[in-house]
Amino acid sequence: MHYNAELIAVGTELLLGNIANTDAQMLSEGLSALGIDVYYHTVVGDNPQRLREALEIARKRANIIITTGGLGPTYDDLTKQTICETFGLPLEFHEDIWQEIVSYFQRRMKGGQITENNRQQAMLPAGCTVFDNPVGTAPGCAFEKDGVRVLMLPGPPYECRYMFTHRAVPYLRALTHEKIFSHELRIFGMGESQVEAVLHEMMVKGANPTLAPYAKTGEVLLRATAKAPTQEEAEEMLRPMVERVKATLGDIVYGEDVASLEEAVLAILKEQGKTVSFAESCTGGLLAKRLTDLPGASQVFRGGVVSYTNAVKAAALGVDEALLAEYGAVSEPVAKAMAEGCRRLCGSDLAVSVTGVAGPDGDDRGNPVGTVFLGLSTGAETICRQVDLSRGRSRGHIRHIAASHAFDLLRRALLDLPL
Ligand code: ATP
Ligand code: MG
Repeated sequence: MHYNAELIAVGTELLLGNIANTDAQMLSEGLSALGIDVYYHTVVGDNPQRLREALEIARKRANIIITTGGLGPTYDDLTKQTICETFGLPLEFHEDIWQEIVSYFQRRMKGGQITENNRQQAMLPAGCTVFDNPVGTAPGCAFEKDGVRVLMLPGPPYECRYMFTHRAVPYLRALTHEKIFSHELRIFGMGESQVEAVLHEMMVKGANPTLAPYAKTGEVLLRATAKAPTQEEAEEMLRPMVERVKATLGDIVYGEDVASLEEAVLAILKEQGKTVSFAESCTGGLLAKRLTDLPGASQVFRGGVVSYTNAVKAAALGVDEALLAEYGAVSEPVAKAMAEGCRRLCGSDLAVSVTGVAGPDGDDRGNPVGTVFLGLSTGAETICRQVDLSRGRSRGHIRHIAASHAFDLLRRALLDLPL
């Protein structure tokens, strides 16, 4: 059985923009972890006619409908009544739920009088599975009618999360018996559309497992996902797919289930027992920041120099002033000299330098925005990579991708891959 869900959030305040539909985000995340596809999010105001219309549409295109909000005792809380009318189920009074609501009230509102309209909360669709609510008063519930399961959860985010996790998830798990498992492959050096073109067949063919691309800043994330009763079975389905992607894309796949290029580089440096240092101009310390954001960076990172001016490039890194005068700061000879100087100064096994034009304007030598030179000094050799990031969307974007190129250079040098 293939399950697909539609979420219907009920609340005029959502339509007015007073609050964000965070319940939908939480539920979607949780449902995808269960392997249940979510095809639609709907938001309707506290209006029975429009809620009814939304339900009529949803029951035709989803076999799980989850509503949030409108379960409370106030006049605008009409989700239950409207759902019951739409699905042709009577509401029934539940004495046990009523007793729970009464005792919740007595605990929370010492001495307060429980009002008659609270009885409404003990009215639930005939024959439903009750989701009792220990963190609020309004219970939720679930029922099945004509092959469609309808689950009702309270709107307040804390209650919604609790009720989803402790009531709805076990209910839904019992339906599917399947879990979802995935592996992530990270790619640097090919754009999303090209990755998609190369892997098109695998992407469109797969129903289970599936392969989907996600564009990240300057890189691509591929997620292979399988639904299976156990992790072992999922692995059996995922392994061939992951291996095929790696074989097809080659060394631009820099990691499996790693979070970032710098994380991949950190792991390789640790494994090889090597150290690194950075000479940064246009990235202004971003390389050092990205690496030192990771725990364990101290084992591999010696330090660095943010040599933003020519004076510091010369004084701290020992870049020959004649080179700076002849070629300008954004040039291959200077990038190389920065890397060599940094390696000497910091005493690291490898050093990377970045010098470029992050924008918004070009430099005085006529280098356009996005021109970046990266130097890499390994002791055995010093090389330079020139990249054109002129399609970068902003200064921050150009700097981030320039830093990613630096990590890519390091990774390639460490693994003896073509630079
Ligand atoms: P109550 O018993 O508190 O009335 P309820 O189930 O009737 O709960 P609503 O009255 O619709 O829920 O909403 C209560 C509050 O919960 C709203 O004022 C809003 O702050 C929050 N809320 C409702 N729906 C959402 C949603 N989809 N995402 C985030 N917050 C929500
Ligand atoms: Mg309410």
